[in-house]
Amino acid sequence: MTTANTSLRAASRGLHFNSGTGFTLLPLDIGHADYVAVVDPDTAFWALLRKDKLAGAFTEGIFLESYRSKAASFAEEMKVLRFGLKPSCVYFNPTDRCNLNCSYCYIPETLRRDGKHMSKDDLFRSMDILKEYFAAIMPAGAKPQIIFHGAEPTMNKEALFAGLEKYHDDFRFGIQTNGTLLTDDDIMFLTDLNIAIGLSLDSAAEIVATRTRKTWDGSSVFAKVLATMEKLRGYPNHSVICTVTQQNMEQLTEIVDFFHEREVPTCMLNPVRCTREGARQIKPKDHEMSVHYLKALDRTYELYKKTGRKLVVANFANILISILAPQARRLMCDISPCGGGRAFFAVAAGGDMFPCSEFIGLPEFKGGNLFRDNISDVLATPAFRKVSERKVEDITPCNGCAIRNFCGSPCPAEAHEMNGGMEQPGAFCELYEEQVRYAFRLIADERQDSFLWDRWDKDTKTTLEMMSL
Ligand code: SF4
Ligand code: SF4
Repeated sequence: MTTANTSLRAASRGLHFNSGTGFTLLPLDIGHADYVAVVDPDTAFWALLRKDKLAGAFTEGIFLESYRSKAASFAEEMKVLRFGLKPSCVYFNPTDRCNLNCSYCYIPETLRRDGKHMSKDDLFRSMDILKEYFAAIMPAGAKPQIIFHGAEPTMNKEALFAGLEKYHDDFRFGIQTNGTLLTDDDIMFLTDLNIAIGLSLDSAAEIVATRTRKTWDGSSVFAKVLATMEKLRGYPNHSVICTVTQQNMEQLTEIVDFFHEREVPTCMLNPVRCTREGARQIKPKDHEMSVHYLKALDRTYELYKKTGRKLVVANFANILISILAPQARRLMCDISPCGGGRAFFAVAAGGDMFPCSEFIGLPEFKGGNLFRDNISDVLATPAFRKVSERKVEDITPCNGCAIRNFCGSPCPAEAHEMNGGMEQPGAFCELYEEQVRYAFRLIADERQDSFLWDRWDKDTKTTLEMMSL
């Protein structure tokens, strides 16, 4: 941290902003007619100032004094969030295999075709190991989360469903599925247990959706996914991921309409993770995608005002929350270090452990095996620490960026594979800039709640209420 300190070794007493050992507060143009933001990049403190009051705020009065009195608590909050978390979630692959061959998948093709299913006994054994581990590190009564992930988890339905049934009192379960193999009975089983269900669909138009998500012989699964979406209509605990590529970025507004019409409560418009070559080939240009992405966000607002029903774009909502109440964020990509290997980890079908699913398929990031190794030892391996210790301060240009603690410079997997190392940024810098600027504009206009889950701030507290001067 580089915030003010008045240690005896320092020549400066830290009296002034932006010099000596004084605090750093950087002005940030948010593209608003009346307001500009000022941000302390280290603590993620921010304020919105009227443009005509900017100079005065830096040289006199209550703004500086108030910030000084609270700076230590901001710094502490950020330190806990960035370096003090323990795992509370596991991304668990009950099989290596998948019935689809999506263009951007991060799991190598050989594994998805010929990999193994985890046996029911091994899945039970895994749940027992994880239960014991979390009981020792989490507060009494807190339930850890297991997201069954892929590959396609329902390829190994028998073991998966047996695990969900047997352990549903011990974990909060979720499943991320392509939705093509779920029968009516399966959906009833999952919804009766209140399992969080995530589907994937990349476009409202079949021809576009099939460019990226398709079977091994290239056939469409659009109708099957739609049928599953229809059956989940009205189920509050479901969401749909749209992976944004060159192929569909121009249709993001249409997909927002499409999801909203089908009463999807939450979606993600995730820029494609560029960990593997197939994904990199369809990477959208950052600045072009930003334009379509912000239009899609505008559209969610229009739909909400028109119908009174929200479609929350979860990955944007997370950025907005990272500004409003950093500790309330739900996703762990936009924080540095990211959640991989510290807030959660991933387990592959043979029990091998990786910091995040994104690293399955990159053997050098395997930290150990759930059946053979102690979980705490695995978290401390060099393979995991390469991810869990990657921080924005070590990355150029992120170390000079005002919004580095709202963005986090994701993703280490793509930084490593696409840009040549952990000290490199990821693939979508400008998209983060634009999202943060957009979020600040919403806050300036007091429209932020329209983009967030109802009661998102139920358990948060305000440290310093000084949003606009
Ligand atoms: S930034 Fe990448 S490695 Fe980190 S949690 Fe997100 S997907 Fe996983
Ligand atoms: S990736 Fe870009 S926006 Fe994010 S912290 Fe780095 S420089 Fe800033």
